[in-house]
Amino acid sequence: MTTRLYNFNPGPAALPLEVLEEAKEQFVYYGGKGISLLEMSHRSRDVEQLNEETQQLLLRALDLEGGNYHVLFMGGGASTQFALLPLNFLKPNETAAYALTGSFAEKAYKEASFIGRTHIITSSRDNGWRHVPDLTESDLPSSPAYVHITTNNTIEGSCYKRIPDLGSSALVGDMTSDLLSRKLDLSKFSLLYAGAQKNLGPAGVTAVIVRDDFLKQASNDIPTIFRYTTFAQNKSLYNTPPVHSIYMMNLVLKWFIRQGGITKLEQLNQQKAELLYRVIDESGGFYKGIIDPPYRSHMNITWTMRNEAAEKNFIRESMEHGFEGLAGHLQRRWT
Ligand SMILES: *Cc1c(COP(=O)(O)O)cnc(C)c1O
Repeated sequence: MTTRLYNFNPGPAALPLEVLEEAKEQFVYYGGKGISLLEMSHRSRDVEQLNEETQQLLLRALDLEGGNYHVLFMGGGASTQFALLPLNFLKPNETAAYALTGSFAEKAYKEASFIGRTHIITSSRDNGWRHVPDLTESDLPSSPAYVHITTNNTIEGSCYKRIPDLGSSALVGDMTSDLLSRKLDLSKFSLLYAGAQKNLGPAGVTAVIVRDDFLKQASNDIPTIFRYTTFAQNKSLYNTPPVHSIYMMNLVLKWFIRQGGITKLEQLNQQKAELLYRVIDESGGFYKGIIDPPYRSHMNITWTMRNEAAEKNFIRESMEHGFEGLAGHLQRRWT
């Protein structure tokens, strides 16, 4: 097999071929050393440098340099952040506020409910997650520990078009499936996180970006390994990090910057999404978009067809033409 499939899996998602080739090149003898990165000590200079460079590259790619941010590289995927966030920031007698706009947002909320008091600001579940409710400061409970939003709802295919203005409340964003895909005012976030396997690289590492003033409020009476402060103080080298995933992220970020950065990639993403939505909207009901148009994601484009047979047919034929991963979560509906 020498031709690559057209991979539409939302995550693990397609990686640039250039990046895969470069990693292959470096796999056995990293940087011409007689050792691979997989075997190297995380206390070595090479790994230290790679780790710091990747943190800097991420801030640079997001235009957050010089803004008092810490970049943490953590394990356990974005789902682990669902629990670590309230462990670190939801104290007794405080309330954490959640906007439920899709199934990942709901999972984040459920994890927090095991840890402390939570409040649902809004939920679009009752209309099948088809829209993303606007949020304003007046929707919030008084002095929430933080407000959690999911900027792009991967499974449903919806997103916030802009980051809400919530005054002085600490805003936290799960940006797993739209980080680096479009320009957003990230300075509104006190903390944002993203599992790498959607937009940043392979699975195994989760990027957390936290502003210093918010980090100062993090708990120090939870186990050391669960504390954001442990990762910040040790530049994410407190224990053995997922070095190879960080290396792959490093290559993806350099590729991203070579392509022209966020301005260029946003343009491309927009063009691709518009092309697909146009086909859906002009198909006379052959394809039916799921999300109300103002809330449509440009990263995850979702639609149904007139019946299950048509959908199965579409998937089978698309696979015959080398299109991978188009069934998305429809398959779950069929089984
Ligand atoms: C994929 C995804 C997750 C879960 O990520 P894991 O790394 O598998 O835990 C969480 N939130 C969003 C928005 C996602 O797209």
